[in-house]
Amino acid sequence: MRSEIVLVFFIHVCHTSIQKLKIGGVFDESDEHEELAFSYAVNMVNSLHPNANIKLVEKSRRVKLENTLEVSKAVCDLLDDGVVAIFGPSSQSSSPYVQSICDTKEIPHIETHWNTNQQRSLVNFYPNPYMLGVAFLELVRKWDWKMFTILYDDEISLMKVDRLLMADNEGYKIRVRQLEVDVSSRYRNVLNTIKRSGEKYFILVCSIEVLEEVLLQAQQVGIITDEYNYIITNPDMHTIDLGPYQYGGCNITGVRLMNPEHRNMIELAEKLQRMKMKMGLNLTYFDHFAAWKLTTKTALLVDAVSLFFETIRDFKLTKPFDVRNLGCDSTNNWEHGYSITNLLKTKSLDGLTGIVKFDYQGVRTEFNLEIIELAVGGLIKIGTWNVSHSVTIERFYSPIEIVQVDEGSLTNKSFVVITALTPPYGLLKETTTQLSGNDRFEGFGIDLIHELSLMLGFNYTFVIQEDGANGNFDRRTKQWNGMIREIIDGRADLAITDLTITSERENAVDFTMPFMNLGISILYRKPEPVAPSLFTFASPFSLQVWMLLGVAYFFVSISLFIIGRLCPSEWTNPYPCVEEPEFLINQFSLRNSLWFTIGSLMQQGTEIAPIGISTRMVAGIWWFFTLIMVSSYTANLAAFLTVETLVTSFKNIEELAEQTEIKYGAKKDGATSNFFRDSDIESYKVIGRYMYKHPTDMTADNDEGVRRVETENYAFLMESTTIEYIVERHCTLAQVGGLLDDKGYGIAMRKDSKYRNILSAAVLKLQETGKLTSLKIKWWKEKRGGGNCASRTAGGAATPLGLKNVEGVFFILTLGTILGFLGTFLELALHILRKTYKDTKRFKRDYMEELKFVFQFKKRMKPVMQIDSKNSNSSKHSSKKQSI
Ligand code: GLU
Repeated sequence: MRSEIVLVFFIHVCHTSIQKLKIGGVFDESDEHEELAFSYAVNMVNSLHPNANIKLVEKSRRVKLENTLEVSKAVCDLLDDGVVAIFGPSSQSSSPYVQSICDTKEIPHIETHWNTNQQRSLVNFYPNPYMLGVAFLELVRKWDWKMFTILYDDEISLMKVDRLLMADNEGYKIRVRQLEVDVSSRYRNVLNTIKRSGEKYFILVCSIEVLEEVLLQAQQVGIITDEYNYIITNPDMHTIDLGPYQYGGCNITGVRLMNPEHRNMIELAEKLQRMKMKMGLNLTYFDHFAAWKLTTKTALLVDAVSLFFETIRDFKLTKPFDVRNLGCDSTNNWEHGYSITNLLKTKSLDGLTGIVKFDYQGVRTEFNLEIIELAVGGLIKIGTWNVSHSVTIERFYSPIEIVQVDEGSLTNKSFVVITALTPPYGLLKETTTQLSGNDRFEGFGIDLIHELSLMLGFNYTFVIQEDGANGNFDRRTKQWNGMIREIIDGRADLAITDLTITSERENAVDFTMPFMNLGISILYRKPEPVAPSLFTFASPFSLQVWMLLGVAYFFVSISLFIIGRLCPSEWTNPYPCVEEPEFLINQFSLRNSLWFTIGSLMQQGTEIAPIGISTRMVAGIWWFFTLIMVSSYTANLAAFLTVETLVTSFKNIEELAEQTEIKYGAKKDGATSNFFRDSDIESYKVIGRYMYKHPTDMTADNDEGVRRVETENYAFLMESTTIEYIVERHCTLAQVGGLLDDKGYGIAMRKDSKYRNILSAAVLKLQETGKLTSLKIKWWKEKRGGGNCASRTAGGAATPLGLKNVEGVFFILTLGTILGFLGTFLELALHILRKTYKDTKRFKRDYMEELKFVFQFKKRMKPVMQIDSKNSNSSKHSSKKQSI
């Protein structure tokens, strides 16, 4: 129990002995980073010193810095709130107001921006402008420039380098030119003047807001080439995109106060990112690797809070600080203020911005600068500057080394990305305007790299593999060619196209996770529809069925004839009025039986109606049979008439390998031809051997293969994704058979590259978010003639049957009618022959008379021919008329 009381007492003592001191920050309303960095710094110092008797509490205001009234009011508010120090604002115009309030209230005022006006209460963490000028002049000396031009954007910038202006006393020829903005051409006019002047050495002094535009326009007018030299004085030059200027050979040097690749800077960037996320602020892609985007001002603020904390912690007081209301309306001032400011000036710190040390005036005259240079691959540190050692150039890195010294982050890295003009992965833009650089290209691969760069913050420049070779290992010379070779030799950092991941390539380079999956298949002409035959109408039944149908017809007809004769009910009285007839007749004569059966088969019926039970039974069964047969025929006929029959020369790779008529091949030295070369499957081996023996059937690229398929009897073995792309645009072509294997395309990079995981993760992310799918839809189905073939076959309306489909029926009809005519002539002849008793003369005369009568269409009554059995020579038509 006693020990618990002691513990509670101890906690109480500890608790009461910790004093919370508020510090105030005045920041720009448009820049959340400063406020966040301030808050981060306060939390950091508190957590780094858990046992300190002081804890800082941050109070901040975000205002329009140009509005001095607003700034002053914010400071007064903070003082009212009881703050013991003011940090900021980073503004040349409002700083004096804040400074004078702090002077009056005697509280420490800490700034982190360039300022020449130094009052008593002010401690400025920004390096002394004069000493910065000294550093630049020493750099000029180191580079052995005899003359140079100072390019500045405004007077304030020029004031920052007044030390350089004095250098003309030291024998330098100095020109000073302002970068005047022209509404139409922006800086281009003045830059063109500079170009014409022949000046080659420049000191570029401008704010970070305009630096990027100035450099871009300088490149456009042609003064960022290997003849030109620049020293950029802005210590935030690392925050802008310098990728486009890496390859021109232009000598661009600058300085920085902190190293964005330093662990502490990366940690700061990550913390800020997390804080932003917690606050629900928008994250940009760059926030993931924001260290390269952090400005010197932000880093200085963190250092300022750290050093202030140390100062206040070390301030020897017998009792806690006496913090009173120091509001602007009161006459109070802070008794410890000056003492703390003075103590702060004596302190030093090894912070994010290097050694922080002040002279007695609170000016940071001693500091270290890193000298940086733009090289292929990004900004690299090439040396240092400090007061005692002046400029020291330590070592030069080769671009390849740069890649090895960083920590795997891609932010602000610049990559040379090699691609081939293989549609749709890489294409030249179709435009009449002159394009340059990356702007010249478009395509799936180009978009993919762009998406990755947005996610990971790297810069890129596309170069083209002129021969379009992806990369093949020559087993004889043991050498790689194509893009793989470019990667191995370091001429390119990344390669993207339809670059298949193979085990052989994987031994030479690294690949990301596949961004697309595919397999080998065959591109060939679409199967052609067979022209419908004359007897298409007969197609619903096979020949066998037709023959059986004929047999059934005769069988049933004869059966009916016999059964009819057997069946007593079928023998009927021919004259119903005569009760006791002399003879009976039977309707099922052979002729009638045949007619009855065909009538029901044709669904027409006849006047003949069976009477007997047996004949009715046979008739019923025959009707049932015809019902089923006719229905089946009709149903099947619709399908035969509407569906096109296609003829395929081969249906799969095995059939292709077996035949000799169709030539085939693949892209030379591509993954597809290598697949057949190395395969263990017999039919694939056959294909591989054929390819080896027929080098002329191999193509230089996919386009040639497609051309050959269209114009020759040629099948092209290629990858399914590219087939998909082609059949969308070449409507006569199609994929034949399924996929022979299963593989993917990846982005290649140097072996053991530390970017592989990060790029792979980004590729997966793009896959998960559906970005890759939408890119595929864009480049396969929409752009450059996508959907061409789909639109042609769209609609799905039934196509009307052509004459070809039904001409057989017309043929049969015509044939039947002609046979009918012939039959009737024959019948007539038989009829007359029977009556003329083979008297040829009479036969001829009667036949002609009959024919004449037939064609006298007006005569509607026909006289009955009289048969004179005795006088067979005479025959005449009786006066009895036969109605017709
Ligand atoms: N994708 C293949 C390669 O990477 C090229 C095309 C092919 O061989 O079908 O080599």
